[in-house]
Amino acid sequence: MQETFATHRVDNQPPPFGACNIWMDDAGLREAVFREGGETFAPQLVEYGQVAGTRLLQLADDAHRDRPRLIAYDAYGRRLDRVEFHPAYHEVMGTAIAHGVAGWSWAQPQPGAHVVRAALSYLHYQGEPGSSCPLTMTHAGVPVLRQNPALREWADKAAAPHYDPRFVPIHDKQGVTLGMGMTEKQGGSDVRSNSTRATPLAAIGEYLLVGHKWFFSAPMSDGFLVLAQAPGGLSCFLLPRWRPDGTVNALRLLRLKDKQGDWSNASSEVEFENAWACLIGEEGRGVATILEMVMLTRLDCMLGSAGLMRMALRRVLHHVSHRHAFGKRLLDQPLMRNVLADLALESEAATALALRVAGAVDRAPQDPHEAALARVATAIGKFWICKRASMVAAEAQECVGGLGYIEESGMPRLFRQSPLNAIWEGCSNIQCLDVLRALGREPETGEALGAELQAAAGHDPHFDTVLQAGLAQLAAGTDEAGARALVERLALLLQGATLLRAGHPLAAHWCASRLGGHTACFGGLASAEAIEAALARVGV
Ligand SMILES: Cc1cc2nc3c(=O)[nH]c(=O)nc-3n(C[C@H](O)[C@H](O)[C@H](O)COP(=O)(O)OP(=O)(O)OC[C@H]3O[C@@H](n4cnc5c(N)ncnc54)[C@H](O)[C@@H]3O)c2cc1C
Repeated sequence: MQETFATHRVDNQPPPFGACNIWMDDAGLREAVFREGGETFAPQLVEYGQVAGTRLLQLADDAHRDRPRLIAYDAYGRRLDRVEFHPAYHEVMGTAIAHGVAGWSWAQPQPGAHVVRAALSYLHYQGEPGSSCPLTMTHAGVPVLRQNPALREWADKAAAPHYDPRFVPIHDKQGVTLGMGMTEKQGGSDVRSNSTRATPLAAIGEYLLVGHKWFFSAPMSDGFLVLAQAPGGLSCFLLPRWRPDGTVNALRLLRLKDKQGDWSNASSEVEFENAWACLIGEEGRGVATILEMVMLTRLDCMLGSAGLMRMALRRVLHHVSHRHAFGKRLLDQPLMRNVLADLALESEAATALALRVAGAVDRAPQDPHEAALARVATAIGKFWICKRASMVAAEAQECVGGLGYIEESGMPRLFRQSPLNAIWEGCSNIQCLDVLRALGREPETGEALGAELQAAAGHDPHFDTVLQAGLAQLAAGTDEAGARALVERLALLLQGATLLRAGHPLAAHWCASRLGGHTACFGGLASAEAIEAALARVGV
């Protein structure tokens, strides 16, 4: 490598960010997966940690730089409604699906399968986050499709380890991908305002849809779970790209969104011009039907944001380990060590909570406590972890200095991506209101949450103090205006309880900081011991 110019040598710059096995070097993830019952499948995670930390990271550069393009028409004006991607995107999708990022939970239906798929999703997000959108929708759509026995082939092929991007009917494919269409121009959070109409055909369960969707990601998927107004009210449908008679369905791609980030993934605006669709669940029960999918995509938002924090930290640690200022490596500057340790604390707690919720989802079918906890902790964790991800990404970017603002450093891509999980699948306010709804309408969720927090009592004075206040707040309830304050406290308590019950080596430091009074910015840890412990945890 040429390091000498006519005027200067390239000095005091880190070597290129290196490839590594991102499962093997993540103690927090490994311990969480084992704790939650996923150890049987550890070899799968060793393998994917290597793939995600090497090949996917390389492919991500091309997949993000060369963004998807809409090919609406052919040269002669005929409609095509296709999206063209850089080949790197297809390789990413094929690799992920072959390794079970979309289908592992359904293909290996045994204890721990959801935990392992969650870990695969967390690893994948670090390698290439944009493709996580179609991967999670494909994963999460399976239980909804299974509600309609006529859609068995769809459910089986969505769970299959085969990626086939060809624009052909599903009978000609071994595997399919899924998208989701809820948001319309007049309302995203308020999906009951959907105006797309579904008119029943003579054949039972078949409808024609007329209307639009304002956000419709991964529009090249084979099928979409969409909401539309049927005679009996808002209902859930499978809308395939091809009709059962082998003709192309009337799904028109109007344009692709020019997004802040998430560039490898296509998000579109669409119209349905009498598009054929198949009812899932009962007419009028659309929100309840699609909620099963949304609960799982919300879990993946949490996992993705936790993964993003980890990748940001990883890149920062690489940089500061090689960069010197004022006679010392940045890594050895006391104030920088505080910032890094604080970021590491945040990342560890996010990973632990995200995997705790994945464990609850895994055990939910057999265990009512875990089912109730999964219900409420999904909303709590989605709110908190996705919100914190932006703050971590911004701080991490600054740790890299000016280079952190430059595209090749990888930090801008993380920064652009970081707010997205807080917005889609229900923005932060919607998550907080969902917590209130769950606590109000399903009292078992409050009981499960209380029991989960109580089980960690007696081990840490900071936790115990905040626990008393939190339980009182939980019992008293709140109006909508107070929802964020309540859910933030519950999120912190849940993170603390998860770390304490796990005997996590950073549990006491985390409680002292996050429950004992933390500064608004990262870098305010009060104890040298906490700083050293958190850094030791990430290999410093
Ligand atoms: C890149 C991208 C891809 C997407 N892909 C898809 C997709 O594939 N399919 C799909 O269906 N959707 C998709 N979405 C849409 C996304 O889910 C919605 O944007 C989101 O749910 C918010 O809806 P909205 O944009 O209509 O905002 P609004 O509903 O108008 O909300 C605006 C703000 O108001 C707040 N708010 C709303 N109601 C209340 C209330 N009662 N109290 C307090 N605050 C409230 C919200 O929290 C939010 O902060 C995508 C979005 C993005 C950015």
